[in-house]
Amino acid sequence: MVNLNKEKELRSFLDSVLKDIEEYRGLIKFEFYKNSLVPLDYIIHLYWKENVNINLGSPLFHYIIEGLQRIGLVNHTMWIEEITIGNVRDDKNDVSKDTKNYTDFKNKINREEKMAKKDEIKDTLNTVTRRGFLKAGVSAGMLAAATGLALDLTKKDAEAAPRNLPKKWDEEIDVVVVGSGFAGLAAAAEAGKRGAKVVILEKMPAYGGNSIINGGVYAAWDSKLHLRQKLNLGIDSPKQHFDDTLKGGDYYNIPSLVKNLTEGSADALNWMIEEGGCKLREALTRAGGHSAYRTHTVAEGVGRGFTEPLRKIAEKYGTKIRLNNEITWIWRKDTEGPVLGVEVKTPKGKRNIKIKKALILASGGFSRDIKMRQAYNPSIVPEYNSTNHPGATGECIRFAQAIGADTLHLAFIQLYPFAEPETGILDNPAVYPFNGVGYGLIYVDKNGKRFVNELERRDVCAMAQIKLGQKPTYSIFNEEMVTKMGGTMEEIEKGIAKGRFIKANTIEELAQKLKMPVNNLVETVKKYNQYIKDGKDPEFNKPITKAMIPLEKGPFYAVAQWPAVHHTMGGIRINEKAQVIDIWGKVIPKFYAAGEVTGGVHGSNRLGSNAIPDCVVHGRIAGINAAQEKA
Ligand SMILES: Cc1cc2nc3c(=O)[nH]c(=O)nc-3n(C[C@H](O)[C@H](O)[C@H](O)COP(=O)(O)OP(=O)(O)OC[C@H]3O[C@@H](n4cnc5c(N)ncnc54)[C@H](O)[C@@H]3O)c2cc1C
Repeated sequence: MVNLNKEKELRSFLDSVLKDIEEYRGLIKFEFYKNSLVPLDYIIHLYWKENVNINLGSPLFHYIIEGLQRIGLVNHTMWIEEITIGNVRDDKNDVSKDTKNYTDFKNKINREEKMAKKDEIKDTLNTVTRRGFLKAGVSAGMLAAATGLALDLTKKDAEAAPRNLPKKWDEEIDVVVVGSGFAGLAAAAEAGKRGAKVVILEKMPAYGGNSIINGGVYAAWDSKLHLRQKLNLGIDSPKQHFDDTLKGGDYYNIPSLVKNLTEGSADALNWMIEEGGCKLREALTRAGGHSAYRTHTVAEGVGRGFTEPLRKIAEKYGTKIRLNNEITWIWRKDTEGPVLGVEVKTPKGKRNIKIKKALILASGGFSRDIKMRQAYNPSIVPEYNSTNHPGATGECIRFAQAIGADTLHLAFIQLYPFAEPETGILDNPAVYPFNGVGYGLIYVDKNGKRFVNELERRDVCAMAQIKLGQKPTYSIFNEEMVTKMGGTMEEIEKGIAKGRFIKANTIEELAQKLKMPVNNLVETVKKYNQYIKDGKDPEFNKPITKAMIPLEKGPFYAVAQWPAVHHTMGGIRINEKAQVIDIWGKVIPKFYAAGEVTGGVHGSNRLGSNAIPDCVVHGRIAGINAAQEKA
């Protein structure tokens, strides 16, 4: 497919892409693929199929490839099919056209960045610099809070202005699902299975949202594989999972929604295994805030291992995914009536779709919407990186609010404590610090000292790092732990190759490589090993379990980590049937929501690996109920 005669042209193009990525680091998060798909097509092909070395000595290139891999784009043929569904391009081999697309897009980004910078300066009365923020730690949040930013809906954000219903509808569909992540795919699958004509509208050029790049870890007290029993990892139950989830969310959670999650998670996992062909690794981990070994890792080690089975099931029942279709409004006549339809921006222009049975909002969270973050939680300052895909913005929450939907918990925003420190990406090595703690992995600061109970919740681990006032921190583990924590040696080798994992045969050597005081790290590990043997951690009170391995036998590994904005716990209020509730406490007819766009499931703080079961379980509930609505 690739015309290799054009390699020279391509190389200079790639040079310019990488240079721009250096300059505009936000682009690393794959924003550039939005309008510049073909060059990446070439990158993938040359890198994977033709073995052309286009590394250019930059680790950034690894991020690009890793990112593409994580969102499933390395399968060239499948990707082409996916992309062309959205009619993004016709001519697969015209590099010059693609280069022009890229240049246009680059100019657009430049303009947008400049405008955003201006806005930021104007908005933020007291600018918090990154260095100042790191030094100030928590107080930076208080400083930002003092600036009292609010969501400005008066100018270009005038989404809340009243609008007249469309004079005619361009199309009628039984069930419209907004968003093609876990929640949207699960909803579409269940609605389609019950005979409804279902269309998923997705604004991005590739399906999957945060779900497809996710870390692939899923909390369930059991599954048809019975891994906990097989690996002799103690007891668990839906009630124990329920109690942990409420405690982890500081009891802000809505119990009936937590009940859905914890009682439905095993069945949802079995559904993806049986009907979607989903495969799991033979490992089970205990992660921060969970009191049992219940976190399952998907075979692919990335969310795609779940989205592909879900997509397969949804498409089997007739669902069509329309890429590059962005919802720009939800139509409702008055505060009593049902949702009537949606306005959609498509590559061919604006269209209005009438909804016959129901609208299901599964549009995800708003971690990448800096203005919205600031409006609801000023402590989440713009300087934070984010683990999320660029489409994680909150416009659909505002559209729902504008037609009467109630929202809750919008101020609860989670930092992932272990993201790649410079970019905020949650790549495969960044999942190890999360998965390893139940097997003895520890966190240390730059002085080689532990600073927190590693089995603590994410908010506690993130704040403990920020309060250190020095960046980054490190996770330390050994080879014995790797497969137990759901990792593979292949992943370790890849992580080493791109400079993410640091390997050493002894703790002394590891400290030297990390430029840490050697004696400190040796002393920390010695003490910690003794705690494991004693079954008690007097320093940080980490619950010691039989499954934990002392850090005695090399090789040892380290991975750098730092918090990045990860999950927005708040969102649209739903009841246990996934129906959207209005500000008077009534159901909005024909309107459902599921997944990260909703609030109340996780309370103040989501436990890691609880989001996938939340999305799949509530997506299924929404789909089943939507299909039963009268057309
Ligand atoms: C890097 C990363 C790793 C994670 N790892 C884990 C993990 O291992 N385990 C776990 O439990 N949780 C994890 N999470 C959290 C979890 O992945 C998310 O909460 C989950 O994917 C949300 O799914 P969703 O279906 O609600 O939304 P998403 O998957 O984000 O999908 C929403 C979709 O809606 C689209 N959309 C938004 N607005 C519009 C609009 N106006 N019009 C049309 N489409 C729109 C978006 O483009 C997006 O594709 C992780 C999150 C991230 C970011």
